[in-house]
Parts: sequence; structure tokens; C-alpha cells
Amino acid sequence: MGAMSTQPHASPEPDDREAARPIDERPTRIRVDLERIAGNLRAIRAHVGVPVMGIVKANAYGHGLVPVARHLQAAGVDQLGVAFVEEGIALRRAGIRAPILVLGGIFGHQIGRFISHDLEITVSSLDKLRQVEAAAEAMGRRAVVHLKIDTGMERIGVHSYSAGPFIEAAVASPWCEVKGVYSHLACADDPASPATAAQVARFAEACEHFTRIGAPMPLRHLANSGGVLHFPDTWLDMVRPGILLYGVLPDPASRPTVAVQPAMSLVSQVVYFKVVKAGHAVSYGGTWTATRDTRVVTVPIGYGDGYPRALSSRGEVLVRGRRHPIVGRICMDQFMVDIGDGSAWNEDEVVLVGTQEGEAIPVEAVALQAGTVPYEILVGLNERIPRDYLGGASLAPVAA
Ligand SMILES: *Cc1c(COP(=O)(O)O)cnc(C)c1O
Repeated sequence: MGAMSTQPHASPEPDDREAARPIDERPTRIRVDLERIAGNLRAIRAHVGVPVMGIVKANAYGHGLVPVARHLQAAGVDQLGVAFVEEGIALRRAGIRAPILVLGGIFGHQIGRFISHDLEITVSSLDKLRQVEAAAEAMGRRAVVHLKIDTGMERIGVHSYSAGPFIEAAVASPWCEVKGVYSHLACADDPASPATAAQVARFAEACEHFTRIGAPMPLRHLANSGGVLHFPDTWLDMVRPGILLYGVLPDPASRPTVAVQPAMSLVSQVVYFKVVKAGHAVSYGGTWTATRDTRVVTVPIGYGDGYPRALSSRGEVLVRGRRHPIVGRICMDQFMVDIGDGSAWNEDEVVLVGTQEGEAIPVEAVALQAGTVPYEILVGLNERIPRDYLGGASLAPVAA
């Protein structure tokens, strides 16, 4: 092979070539249509007629925190919301300049990071208000805060019936700019639940304290996706949809009063085909047995990717435009599908969530089969699955 070593390199050594490949060519992929998310934002805004805080916590419900936030910002979202301070900092580091509210409860030692990254703080008790004041004063910078009122969720926030002194103290604080006051709905997914009307009334009562003390009314916000869909009296000055932005309904009881489109699909490819003989069992535990000679394909995704093991012998996938059942237990990295009298070849597309040749498997249906809510399916799909983005370039943010 001496001759070879004297030749000029026409192409990189195999190792270099490997290093230059796209980092992830895995056939199992999440496709995110960013234009649909922007379209859903427009549909929601037209429906409610007030500003929208786009909720992008938990990796934007599995769709990818930074690409989604960047696209929402370019599409003119009024504000973003995340769950905890690290998510907010990640957005700032990615160059997102839209206002960001951190929705979760705060720890005292985090307050400096909120202020230095220009993140709006949820203040959920008098004690936390004092901590924010102290940190802001020490930094010589006012903190922007939203006061959290508990109207029935019993998660975080000052109970509406004790809100008077809390609101007075916040308004009087020279180190806090009270930008908002808000609460969270516990039962708005269900249009028939009477709990929402009670929460609306308690929130209105709490907000009256601003009027009583002659303070300007800050932004009042209450509606999650369920509120947006079903309860116009929760819309107030701003709404906070999460799951609906991604085109998914929060609950089987929800009514599709806003025309949104699902932004995510989950696809893989057939990696193996075989015939399982009648009487032979499939996968761990041998929980499913072929009753006749059965054509079975293997799909290279499993619960290690966040595809729920609860779908074992319950879920369905699309192959060649037809719906086929998952058979046997879902493994960490693979599962098996009975394709009946259908045919399939290696590398055929398998749709786990989404559409194929006019057939659809919505994430809401997957959640029902798995015995959970669509939220848990979406956010469970983890970093092992590469995300491909459609429609991002046309709305790329302009340089500052
Ligand atoms: C997650 C969350 C939302 C969004 O909820 P969806 O049901 O996804 O619309 C709104 N507000 C708060 C406080 C939240 O924690």
C-alpha cells in the first residue's frame, strides 16, 4: 500500500470523515414545524384579543426551548414564560430579548441571577417579597415582579383571602416594579367544571386591593390553554397558553374552539422484518404470543427515548399509510409491530405521532392509550431524539 501513501489526499481520512458527518443521522426523529407554532400563536391572539405570554418551559413542551422561543419572538409574541431560572438564563444566553417571566417559586439565593439576566420574578409570599427587595437593593437595581395569588390550585401563591397586606407591601416597595398579578387555573381543561368561575371571582376580589389603595392595576393574567379555549372571563390583560401553542388540546374533555395545528411529529424507520411463527412469544416477558404466523417489524425507538412503556401491546403506529398495533413489551431502544397482511421494507417510514398518507395518530390519542395526558408524552421525548425544524429560516430574528 506504499503507493497510496504517496498520493495526495483526495478526501479526508475515514476518521476525519466520520467526525465531519452531521452529529446525528439517527433515523428516529422529531419534526417540528415552527410555522405551525407561529400560526397557532396568531390564531390564539385573534381568538382572545389580548397579548400572549408563550409558555416554553420543559424544552418548549419537548419541541426545543431555543428554536421555539426564537421563532415565537420573531413572530411577535408579547412575552415568554418558563418554569425555573435556568430555563430563563438559557434563553438570555441564546440572545432572546423578549420579556421572560419565570413561573415557578423562587429560592432566595437565586434572586441575583434573575435580576442580572433581566428575568421577571414570581413573588409568591410576603417573605419572598422581602428577599427580593433585599437582593434588589443590594444590587442597586429594581426587580420586575408578578405577584402570585392562589385562588384554588394550592400550589404556590398567597391565598386570595389573605392578599391585601401582600399587595400593599409589594406596591409600597421601592425595589420592586409590580408588572403583573396572576393566578393559575386548576380545572379549565374541562369546560363543564364549575371550579373556574370560583377562581375567577376570587382573583377579581384579590385584584380589587390595587383599586382600594389607589395603585395602578398591573397586568392581570389567569388563562392557561384551558382558559383560552373555554373561559373568556379568564382572558383579562394577557393569556398564558402552553400546550395549545403547540397545537395540542390539554384534555379529552377540551373543545377545539381555536383552530390550531399540531407542530410535532415523531417518526422512525423499520430496522428489521421477520415472520413470528404461531405460538411464539414476542419481547421481554413473552407477554404477547402470535396466534398465527405473523409478519412483525422492529422499530428502533423505546422507553429510553421517552416513548412510554405503557404502550406495550396497546399503542399503534403507521407504516405505509396503515395503522398497525405494537406487540409485546416496549424495550429501552426498540419495539415490535404486527403489520398483519401488510408489507414493509427496511427503512420504511414509521410514524409514531403525526400523519402518513392521510392517516393520523395525534399525540392526544397516544396519551389516552398510554393512560396519561399529552403533556407527559410531549415533554417525555428526550434529547436522544434529534429534532428537525421546518420553517425556521423565513422568520430568523433580525440582528439587534
Ligand atoms: C404550565 C403553565 C401554563 C401553561 O399551561 P398549559 O396548560 O400548557 O396552557 C400557564 N401558567 C402557568 C403558571 C403554568 O405553570
